Amino acid sequence: MSFAKKEYEFLKEIGLGPKNPGCYVNGQWKGTGPVISTVNPANNQTIAEVLEASTQDYEEGMKACSEASKIWMQTPAPKRGEIVRQIGDALRSKLEHLGRLVSLEMGKILPEGIGEVQEVIDMCDFAVGLSRQLNGSIIPSERPNHMMLEMWNPLGIVGVITAFNFPSAVLGWNACIALVCGNCVVWKGAPTTPLVTIAMTKLVAEVLEKNNFPGAIFTSLCGGAEIGQAIAKDTRISLVSFTGSSKVGQMVRQTVSERYGKCLLELSGNNAIIVMDDADIQLATRSVLFAAVGTAGQRCTTCRRLILHESIYQKVLDQLLEVYKQVKIGDPLEKGTLLGPLHTRDSRERFEKGIEIIKSQGGKILTGGSVIESEGNFVQPTIVEISPTADVVKEELFGPVLYVMKFQTLTEAIEINNSVPQGLSSSIFTSKPEIIFKWIGPQGSDTGIVNVNIPTNGAEIGGAFGGEKATGGGREAGSDSWKQYMRRATCTINYGSELPLAQGINFG
Ligand code: NAD
Repeated sequence: MSFAKKEYEFLKEIGLGPKNPGCYVNGQWKGTGPVISTVNPANNQTIAEVLEASTQDYEEGMKACSEASKIWMQTPAPKRGEIVRQIGDALRSKLEHLGRLVSLEMGKILPEGIGEVQEVIDMCDFAVGLSRQLNGSIIPSERPNHMMLEMWNPLGIVGVITAFNFPSAVLGWNACIALVCGNCVVWKGAPTTPLVTIAMTKLVAEVLEKNNFPGAIFTSLCGGAEIGQAIAKDTRISLVSFTGSSKVGQMVRQTVSERYGKCLLELSGNNAIIVMDDADIQLATRSVLFAAVGTAGQRCTTCRRLILHESIYQKVLDQLLEVYKQVKIGDPLEKGTLLGPLHTRDSRERFEKGIEIIKSQGGKILTGGSVIESEGNFVQPTIVEISPTADVVKEELFGPVLYVMKFQTLTEAIEINNSVPQGLSSSIFTSKPEIIFKWIGPQGSDTGIVNVNIPTNGAEIGGAFGGEKATGGGREAGSDSWKQYMRRATCTINYGSELPLAQGINFG
């Protein structure tokens, strides 16, 4: 039995077959667009086929979703929370299966696959509580017998376009919040992870059906750029939440802005870890390993730049080179594997080209630097000594490549940290309060996630997640991110019989 067939047995248990309709529109499964194969990055064998969405499927889905939106926005928020609670329970019951599917189709190791689905469950829990706390406020009015208040209303429909590297978690950040806020969701997952899109949608659809809500509240479409563009252009979609590269995100932002839509962007990162001379070196080394090698360097929060104080430079590097030797590379579903494959053959080619560019710009490969000859898309975890000003350092090479560089003063280290176009995550290793508070303050790191003594990746859902500059400025998941999924109504109510005007204006 081939690997693909063995995995097929497991897929049946979560409702997937050899050929799967990839659109859930108007409460029905279909797909009248192209038929595509989804492949296992560990061996490039086909797992299953998927029928993608056509523009007709899209249109049918959007019509039904617009109708469903009238019902959903009038459903009381705590009742919407109850539906999200049930979605969380449905996910819990299939946690292992879904985690395995994420690992199989995306290529991340199994604990990370399961962790990603757990993140969606955590988001469901967070959103259930939130469904009773979408609080507005009452503001003192300057006019007698007047009352000012802020109300939060649903936007209507939220479009969610997601990237391959977190095929389920990013949906969770957006959909859980969007749903409790009273919005219908239209989701387009990445074209190379359609089985995750379908399996997640099936669980949501079952919950909606069981509670007699229209399935169109959650509309899901497998497809590529064409469907993504349709979402960006569609005036029926009030907010487009886009996760992906800065290049595509920029185009999506322009399209959505042209129609005065709202856009929430979670784009590329180029994250740094600074290690000060007083740092706990072991803690720093373990953190760098997880941050640079985890998910084969395919996290938006992957550490790509390691900025070391000159006095501990060689010590940290020696420890890192030692632990890099012990990284077990292999099938992401196998116990003990730390580094799985890159997601596609194209990613592997981009890695190879990237290494050539690095060398041509003076980068010195200290370990790794090659693809691993195999059926899959495996590459070596790589450390490169390079100048922080090299052009290649300013770009996000989506793989396990870590650039190391030296600094002498904190100011210099912060300057290097802030010298790239992206602004997602950063971390410093130190125990000195004066350094910590400078780092998190106005003269410190310019990223959205600013950590101390932990890796750049592995964020908790309770905080607002996102980054500045070319990372797009969006904030998702916890804290007050929910406000972006709602329309704020500032209401002034006159309960008297006079008409006093603001700013004391007397108008005749
Ligand atoms: P990508 O930009 O190639 O694709 C992202 C999504 O956009 C996919 O669903 C794709 O089909 C769709 N798309 C492609 N062209 C489109 C178009 N013209 N209009 C609308 N949609 C279109 O990104 P990717 O390779 O899937 O993901 C990797 C990137 O995502 C990295 O840059 C990574 O840093 C970033 N990312 C960021 C975050 C974050 O939170 N900041 C999280 C995950 C991934």
